[in-house]
Amino acid sequence: MTIKVAVLGCSGRMGRNLIQAASEHSKIALVGGTVRTSSNFADFDLGELAGIGHLGVNTCTDINQLKNADVLIDFTSIESTFEHLAWCQQHNKALVIGTTGFSDQQVEQIVLAGQDAPVLLAPNTSVGVNLLFKLLEITSKAIGDDSDIEIFEAHHRFKKDAPSGTAMKMGQVIADTLGRDLNECAVYGREGITEERDPNTIGFATVRAGDIIGEHTAFFANLGERLEISHRATSRMTFAQGAMKAVIWLAKADNGFYDMQDVLGLKHL
Ligand code: NAD
Repeated sequence: MTIKVAVLGCSGRMGRNLIQAASEHSKIALVGGTVRTSSNFADFDLGELAGIGHLGVNTCTDINQLKNADVLIDFTSIESTFEHLAWCQQHNKALVIGTTGFSDQQVEQIVLAGQDAPVLLAPNTSVGVNLLFKLLEITSKAIGDDSDIEIFEAHHRFKKDAPSGTAMKMGQVIADTLGRDLNECAVYGREGITEERDPNTIGFATVRAGDIIGEHTAFFANLGERLEISHRATSRMTFAQGAMKAVIWLAKADNGFYDMQDVLGLKHL
């Protein structure tokens, strides 16, 4: 079965990679995509927009023109994602959300939307990062209580939220495994006289520079040794290809709220 897919926010960094990944996938037919009404790329060939040659499918500025899609993919902005989510609820369309930076309350709202449509929220669609989440769970169980835990992340200069959604999810996985409340134990950056480290804290450090695609490391450090679990993305295509795995999986799912752990079968590993 071929799955009809539309990309919301086609002209973005991820949008262009999603067009390429969708058009290269044997089980996916790219049927359209949106750009903002003010965009220079309105009614523009999707393939030419992505720099992969003519595809014969054009962008639109109105999501209502995408009713023929089985699954929509959203890597846009928080505000736009909620507009797209409401539309998918109304039309019972499956939605893969890759946009990041949602508050806890906003995530709850997205979870609730799963009652009306299949919704998958993935702050990071890379297969490696989702395996990293599993490795963090295992490591936290084994040595988390005896370790100083710190999370480092680095991204390109254009990224709008910090720490990254992936870093926050890493912290959440570790905190949940150790029975800690991330809101209480997270320390975001340090400056001045900070006193000795509280062993129950989980520290976050952020770098924004140049064209770094995405780097994440969790440190589990003790006196005399340190375990580092790292992931480095070297191309946005890794996120786009992961998003296609999410699309294929979500196309067969009932209404509900899902994540990449469901897609990759990592929940019960
Ligand atoms: P970007 O700014 O390059 O692209 C976003 C695009 O969405 C822009 O072109 C913008 O015009 C478009 N857009 C916004 N609202 C729209 C609307 N209502 N209709 C049509 N187009 C609209 O940003 P980016 O680097 O592509 O990242 C987008 C989001 O994806 C960010 O939240 C980023 O953190 C996230 N991201 C997630 C992953 C992941 O694996 N889940 C990977 C990379 C980036």
